[in-house]
This record gives sequence, structure tokens and C-alpha cells, in this order.
Amino acid sequence: MSKILIRGAKVLGGEPQDVLIDGETIAAVGTGLEADGAEVVEAGGKVLLPGLVDLHTHLREPGREDSETVLTGTRAAARGGYTSVFAMANTFPVADTAGVVEQVWRLGQEHGYCDVQPIGAVTVGLEGAKLAELGAMHESAAGVTVFSDDGKCVHDAVIMRRALEYVKAFGGVIAQHAQEPRLTEGAQMNEGVVSAELGLGGWPAVAEESVIARDVLLAEHVGSRVHICHLSTAGSVEIVRWAKSRGIDVTAEVTPHHLLLTDELVRTYNPVYKVNPPLRTERDVMALREALADGTIDIVATDHAPHPHEDKDCEWPAAAMGMVGLETALSVVQETMVDTGLLNWAGVADRMSVKPARIGRATDHGRPVSAGEPANLTLVDTAYRGTVDPAGFASRSRNTPYEGRELPGRVTHTWLRGKATLVDGKLT
Ligand SMILES: [Zn+2]
Repeated sequence: MSKILIRGAKVLGGEPQDVLIDGETIAAVGTGLEADGAEVVEAGGKVLLPGLVDLHTHLREPGREDSETVLTGTRAAARGGYTSVFAMANTFPVADTAGVVEQVWRLGQEHGYCDVQPIGAVTVGLEGAKLAELGAMHESAAGVTVFSDDGKCVHDAVIMRRALEYVKAFGGVIAQHAQEPRLTEGAQMNEGVVSAELGLGGWPAVAEESVIARDVLLAEHVGSRVHICHLSTAGSVEIVRWAKSRGIDVTAEVTPHHLLLTDELVRTYNPVYKVNPPLRTERDVMALREALADGTIDIVATDHAPHPHEDKDCEWPAAAMGMVGLETALSVVQETMVDTGLLNWAGVADRMSVKPARIGRATDHGRPVSAGEPANLTLVDTAYRGTVDPAGFASRSRNTPYEGRELPGRVTHTWLRGKATLVDGKLT
């Protein structure tokens, strides 16, 4: 196997060091390393992180290959510095059987850009009525440990309780899309001053917070593990903080867009800003940043939600909800968390690699950058500033809210078990 010597990289943002990759493994980390015949990558002070892990990606295959495929989505992931993504279950057919999750897992293996860990549906057809074959999906080749009806909420308390009880036996986790369905009927945006002025149906914060409150109590009651998808309100932060202080086994994620954008943008009526949960207020954004910094929110997850042009480029009420995120996530986190002094690069590695890998039991990922570990790595030019141009995306979809916005940071190299998937910003 080939050797690669990464010279002068700031590992987790620390002092420059050399990192030697031998085959699939990190062979050595130190200064003044030499290796005969190794391919040399001059890092020149770029930051080296463990390969990023996204616990919340929509790859759309099978069924909506017009918006994304496992191939295009994992190429987008590699461009964003990811070496592992968890693929949500709301495909067509739904990933609610061992057959579908194995198909998605195999496609990821075949393409080789990024490990794909399928998420299994909690209920058959995401219909919320009957538990899916959680055990069969766990025992399949895909080894599913995370289950979610994301896109929909597991709103029935008895079903949620049963699911939590079921996955407890094998250390699985239920990832909840917290949205009380009755409180969000006809919702088009965050309920507040802006929705009142625009006359658009509101998605109240309490629709998210009430489900989170119920689910942390259910997790406590059955002694199981719950993960809250895309927290978006200051009140949700308070509930998770309370639950953690009580010792409840809860983890939570925030998306990059909820760390940066607010519902003021809806005034443009540009459906690129339409997303579920909706963009909230400045006060919520600040509470989410603070909670990510202090660890109340465990991880950043993209909720990468590709949609074809025709599903987004229409009137606001008719437009699909969601934004692509894999190729801009790290830049948004640098802008909102690092450049603001809230988090250092070690903190970014923790929130975007170590912790998501731990929550999803992706044992090859989120490892320390040290000898003997799998060479899943990403190299970031943190001094770079550039304008987001979706024409350069590897994703099949272009629905980014950052088009034309200047953001810091650029992933230049990604290695998946020692194999370069991205070199000098170009996919291999
Ligand atoms: Zn969701």
C-alpha cells in the first residue's frame, strides 16, 4: 500500500506536525518525519481534522435520484470533508426493511467516497402507526443503530415508547424529528413577528419543544437513549439542558443554517430559505450557538436536503422544504463558531466528528489523529475566504441559501481509510 506524508499540518488547530499515512492507517504523527517513497502533501499550516461525520443526510436514493444519489451525495460529502454520513430513511421505498438499508449501505461501499451508514425508519412507511423491523435492520449487513422517521415526527407516545424500549436491547438510538403535527398544520415559517406581518402560517416553537419534553421524559422512563434532530429554538435548548442535568440519556444536533440564518430572510419570499424546522429568530440563533459551545447541543448535523430546481423555484407555499448543506457546513461552522471565538478547532472536531461517530456507533470514525488509527482525515485551509458558487457543487441539487455569500474556510483534502477522495479541492 502507498504512503502519504502530510507535512506541517496543524492537527486539531495545534502546532504544525507531520502525519504519515501507511495504507489505511495513520503510521506516525510527529515533527521532521521522513518516509522514502511517500507522496508528500505540503499542508503549509492548514488544519487537519478527523474526517467529519454527518448524522443527518438525505441521499434520496432509492426513489428520488433526480435530486441526489448515493454517488453524488457522497461526492458532495467528500468535498465537505466528510468520511461518514448517515442516510435518512425517507426514501422511496422507505428504508424500513433490511433489504433497503443493505442496498443503500452497499452503494456507499461500491462508490468509495464516503462511508454510508443507513438510518432505519422507526415505523412502517414512516406512517407512525406500526413499528418497522428494527431488529432485522440492526442484524443486517448494514448494522443499523440509528432509527428515525425524519421528515415526520414519531408523534404517537406509545409507538415512541415501544421504539425506545426495542432499541435499548442492542444500544440503538431513536432520532426524533420533533414536530407536533397538529400544532404545525399549514405551517410555512417560524411563528412570530415576521409570520404575522407576512400573513404566512406559523410553526410555533412550542410544537418542537413539547415533543422534546415528552421524549426526554419517555427516554428517562424506559432507560433508553434518544437523539433530537435539528434543535431550532432557545426553549428546546433549555429542555435538553434540564434533561442532561437530570442524567437523561439525550443527545441533540443543530444544523449549520440554524446557527447562521434567521426568519427575517423569509421577507425575501425566496423559497431557498424554506426549511423544516423553520429559520427562527436572532435570539434562538444566539442560544443555539451558546449551547453548541457549552456542550448542551452535542453535534452539528447538516440535514442536507437536496431538491431539484422545479421543487424549490416556485411560490413560497408550494415550495419543498430543505437546503443542501454538506459542501458548506464546515465553512458555516467556522463563520459562526470559530471566527466568533466560541469554539476552537478541537471543539469543531468534537462536534462534527468525534461525537456524531459516538452517537451513531461509527467506530472507524471520529478517532484521534494518532498512530494506529484509521486514516480518515480532512485538511482545511482556514485562511481561505471565498464566495459560495453552487455551480461547483458535487451534489445533484443546488438549493443552497448561501449562493453569493462570502464564507471562510475550504476543505482541500479528504482521506477515507488512507485513500484520497479529495485532492487540492478536486474529487478523485
Ligand atoms: Zn427533520
